[in-house]
Amino acid sequence: MAENVEVTRSHNTTPTAIPPTNNAHLLSSSNNSSSPSPNSSTHPSHPSLHHSPPPLHGHEATFVRPADLLRPRAISRPLTPARSDRPIDRDERAGLKAIRDFLRVRTCYEVLPLSFRLIELDVGLTVKESLNILVQCGIVSAPLWDSTTSTYAGLLTVTDYLNVVRYYNLHADKLKDIDSLLLSDLKDVEKVLNVKAPETLSVSPEAILYDALRKQLVSRARRIPLVSYDSDTQRTMVTSVITQYRILKFIAMNVKETDMLRKPLETIKLGTYGKIVRCSMDTTVLDVVDEMVTKNISSVPVVTTEGVLLNVFEAVDVIEILKTGDYGNLTWTVGKALSARSQNHPGIYCCSFEDGLDTIFETIKKSRVHRLMIVDDNNYLKGILSLSDILHYLLVEGHEEPNQA
Ligand code: AMP
Repeated sequence: MAENVEVTRSHNTTPTAIPPTNNAHLLSSSNNSSSPSPNSSTHPSHPSLHHSPPPLHGHEATFVRPADLLRPRAISRPLTPARSDRPIDRDERAGLKAIRDFLRVRTCYEVLPLSFRLIELDVGLTVKESLNILVQCGIVSAPLWDSTTSTYAGLLTVTDYLNVVRYYNLHADKLKDIDSLLLSDLKDVEKVLNVKAPETLSVSPEAILYDALRKQLVSRARRIPLVSYDSDTQRTMVTSVITQYRILKFIAMNVKETDMLRKPLETIKLGTYGKIVRCSMDTTVLDVVDEMVTKNISSVPVVTTEGVLLNVFEAVDVIEILKTGDYGNLTWTVGKALSARSQNHPGIYCCSFEDGLDTIFETIKKSRVHRLMIVDDNNYLKGILSLSDILHYLLVEGHEEPNQA
């Protein structure tokens, strides 16, 4: 059974705030961040811009930077020409091998904490009711249960709510019926939108973790429901759902060789760099939702016109808006929506091109990270590193096994 370690908030945070709309204010204000900034240099084209945005009225966000916090800049490794026989390359290969070996002898069940709760929702519930339950329970997804057949009926995730939003945006005449939309109707919504059913993958709790992750890579699912089959009753039963974060934390806590993964992100080309979907504080939530659905991404960075990272709009932020019950609020700007975020929001996790997965695994050990924004020393957005990117690299990079799918 996996070690059940409570995630504690990293004390190494850099408190900053997000301006709802006014970028000029950001550029001309002084940085009064209380945490030490390892690099005080300014961007050539913005001499007054400080390392982090200054606090402003409205929603406060926190930037958490492995590059700053877990390894002093001074000992960051400089980029060197690619050579496959350097110690850093050998260590990287050995680290990846250790992780894969570990995943091959562990089952999915072992990823679960010692105690956990499972909330299943009946497909006969309305979408509105399901939203209330998720909000009350503080969760963002749940397995669905079809009580007419007593079987597992898929996974409800934020993507379903994004689809609903998009559907009613395209068919405003049907909005009057939204309160009676059932979870079982979500399939019809997918058909009308011509989008694939999200998260259809499921595996047995006894499945080898490595195999389950290979399947997850193919399906692009972000969660894996653990579903067992009872041959006596010929029925399925959900044990739990494991998330990408939970899997990466399991690796971080149990494979010490993660500290051998020191090659910089830039060298291993990990993350997405070109064609990043971004928005401004003035973009409407509806437009951002559209992008998330069509591009199948779970977050959109919020940037200034110059490309400085201010915040990140996440798919789960839509739940905060929908829980008001007023779908008209989806015309809010991103700035307004972020101001309505809970005070408990953990902040935006950032890293730099020079970081290796070693520092990122250290962060994962301590904090519930869902993605990292790759920024330069002046907070210019350079790329996005999602948990799926990391898992893909762990499983696929330099892969040498002939027998694996
Ligand atoms: P995610 O859905 O966030 O797990 O990411 C799935 C893939 O899309 C990963 O390869 C990410 O690097 C990439 N990605 C995530 N967000 C964005 C974005 N806003 N723009 C472009 N690519 C993204």
